[in-house]
Amino acid sequence: MKIALFPGDGIGPEIMTEARRVLDALGLPGLVLFAGDVGGTAYRTHGHPLPPETLEMAKAADAVLFGAVGDPACDNLERHLRPEQAILGLRSQLGLFANLRPATMFPGLEDMSALRPEVASQIDLLIVRELNGDVYFGEKAMRVLDDGRRQGYDFMSYAEDEVRRIAHVAFRAAQGRRGKLCSVDKANVLETSQLWRDVVIETHAEYPDVELSHMYVDNAAMQLVRNPGQFDVVVTGNLFGDILSDQASMCVGSIGLLASAALGERQTEFGSFGMYEPIHGSAPDIAGQGKANPMAMILSLAMLLRHSLGLEAEAARIEAAVGKALQDGVTGADLGGSAGTTEVGDAVLARL
Ligand code: ATP
Ligand code: MG
Repeated sequence: MKIALFPGDGIGPEIMTEARRVLDALGLPGLVLFAGDVGGTAYRTHGHPLPPETLEMAKAADAVLFGAVGDPACDNLERHLRPEQAILGLRSQLGLFANLRPATMFPGLEDMSALRPEVASQIDLLIVRELNGDVYFGEKAMRVLDDGRRQGYDFMSYAEDEVRRIAHVAFRAAQGRRGKLCSVDKANVLETSQLWRDVVIETHAEYPDVELSHMYVDNAAMQLVRNPGQFDVVVTGNLFGDILSDQASMCVGSIGLLASAALGERQTEFGSFGMYEPIHGSAPDIAGQGKANPMAMILSLAMLLRHSLGLEAEAARIEAAVGKALQDGVTGADLGGSAGTTEVGDAVLARL
C-alpha cells in the first residue's frame, strides 16, 4: 500500500502533520509513504507548481493525500505557474473525473449550521460532482461583435460516455448508502442536461435496487436548504456540483470539517485510485499560527482508507473519533472554539 502525501501551501503542512499522526497510530502493516512538493512551495523549490517528480510520485501511489495549494505571494505569476495549477493538473493528468463530497451533520454542531438546528440535524448526504467536463473545459472566447460590443462565450458540452461513467460511480455510491439517488440537471433548458438525464435513466437499468429521482438545479438549491434530509446521494455536472457542494458545506456548519475524494477509472490492488483533500483552501490568513482545524484533513484520510485501500473499519474508526471529539466540545477556531491544530489532533488520537 503506497500513499503519496502532498502537504502544499498555507495551513496544508500543519494539518497534514495531524493526519500523518493518525495514520501512524493505525500502524498499518506494509504501508509505504512518499512526500512531494506542490503549489507555491513547489514553485519556489522547483520553478513549477506541479513538478514532474510530484506527478510521477502520484502515479506510482495507490492514493494521494493532498493538503491545499494557494499562495498570495504567487498572485502575479502567469496563470500556468500559479499554485492552483497543481490541483487542476493532477486531476486532469490522473483522470480523476468523480468528485465525492459528503456532508453529514455532526451531533452537537447543529447550532453552527446556517439552517435551523432541527433541519440541519437531518443532513447526511453525498454530492457526486463530475469533474472533467461541462462548461469548464469547453471552448472559451471573448470576442467583439460587429457593432463593437464585447461578448463572452463558453461552450458547454457533455458526451454520453462522460455522463455514463459518473452515473455508475453515483449508483454504486447509493448502493453503499441508503439506496437513493437524485440526479440534478436543467433538462428543461439545456441539451447537455437532456443528455445527462437520458443517460442516467439508461444506466439505472443496471441498478434496479436504487431509487432514482430527478430534480432541476434551481429546485435542488431550494430543497437543499428547505429539507436536506430528503437527499442521500446527489449526482450532478461540474458547474452545478461546484455550486451545490459549497452550499451543502455551509448547511453543515464549518469549512474545517468537510473532506472530499476525486476518483477516476484506475483500480488499484485495494480499491479505486484517488486523491483526497479537505474542501477548504490554504487559509493564508491563519497559516503558521497553529490554529487551523485538521479535522477535514483527517476525514479526508478516512475517505482515502475507505475508497483506495479498502480499509472500511479503519475509516469508520477515524470518523467515529472525530465525531466523538466534536461531541466532547473539542472545537477549533473555525467553529468558534479555542482548540489549536495539535490539540485537535491529540483529541482525535485519544479517541481512536
Ligand atoms: P485558497 O485560495 O487556498 O482557497 P482562501 O483564501 O480561499 O484560500 P480558504 O482556505 O478557502 O481560504 O478559507 C476561507 C476562510 O476559512 C479563511 O478565513 C480561513 O482562515 C478559514 N479556514 C479555512 N480552512 C480552515 C481550517 N481548516 N480551520 C480553520 N479555519 C479555516
Ligand atoms: Mg478558497
